[in-house]
Amino acid sequence: MKKFTALLLAAVLATGLLTACGNGGAGENAAENAGQETTDTPDAAAGEDAQDSGEENADAQEDSAEASGSEDADGVDTQDGTEEVSPVLADGKLTVGTNAEFPPFEFVGDDGEPDGFDVALIKAIGEKLGVEVEMENMEFDALVASIGSKIDIAIAGMTVSDERKKSVDFSDPYYDALQYVILPEGSEIATFDDLAGKTIGVQLGTTGDFIASDDVDGATVKQYNKGVDAVNDLVNGRLDCVIIDKNPALVFAGKFEGQLTAVDGAQFGFEVENYAIAIPKGDSALLNAVNGALKEIREDGTFDELVKTYIEN
Ligand code: GLN
Repeated sequence: MKKFTALLLAAVLATGLLTACGNGGAGENAAENAGQETTDTPDAAAGEDAQDSGEENADAQEDSAEASGSEDADGVDTQDGTEEVSPVLADGKLTVGTNAEFPPFEFVGDDGEPDGFDVALIKAIGEKLGVEVEMENMEFDALVASIGSKIDIAIAGMTVSDERKKSVDFSDPYYDALQYVILPEGSEIATFDDLAGKTIGVQLGTTGDFIASDDVDGATVKQYNKGVDAVNDLVNGRLDCVIIDKNPALVFAGKFEGQLTAVDGAQFGFEVENYAIAIPKGDSALLNAVNGALKEIREDGTFDELVKTYIEN
């Protein structure tokens, strides 16, 4: 959300020109985005104010979206038939965080901009929602905490986890994943128990990191901001293995054919993970809009096209 929009909305709210109608839901978020202080009061008293201003906010935003001729940003249908638009979509711009170090889902393209399956997917979603998508490339470990401040949402081959769900909501899952183990050719590591006591490279703050750090006995875990740096250290003999998601593992190991192999995590008893888009907690209008767009993209064949272009290639 752009700053000036927030200021404008704050001004509109302050003058009290608009009257509230219907039941709000995005109240707290909207008020926060408009630069107002919100207090975490249990439901009653202050809650009503926040809710009212939130609803006004959403209405004003819908008007401005219409006025600027942008396509309808799908929102939640309220009881009186009006659509509730997420404050995040209302300015026509969606700032999306990613970590472009995770091919084929995200990488830096030839033009220096983030590219990959996730980037194409979120741009397709943005198109469905009638908003412009702006990518923000940052460290993976910083993504969740940046939602709601530096970025609106994040797409980064991010696995749905209970821990992350404490801070963000997740869209419907869009891709199944599994941790793989990249090994030097001829390594004797073949089972989960073999990982005990080994020096394991991971990408900081990822599910591979959590397996190595929390589940493997006595491992020395080396955390890298870029998976590729871990892989380079593996090639240089500084690590015994790298635990990283399947598709990047295949891409990275493929660059060192004859030296590295990427081994299916099922052999190590790793569980299937689901990638989803992380969105601000409690923004049900945005959640529904993103899920609706995702569904359309699956149904109209766009999703399969992207899989062919980016993943099966
Ligand atoms: N899927 C892993 C996770 O969510 C890794 C994601 C990534 O490195 N981009 O933790």
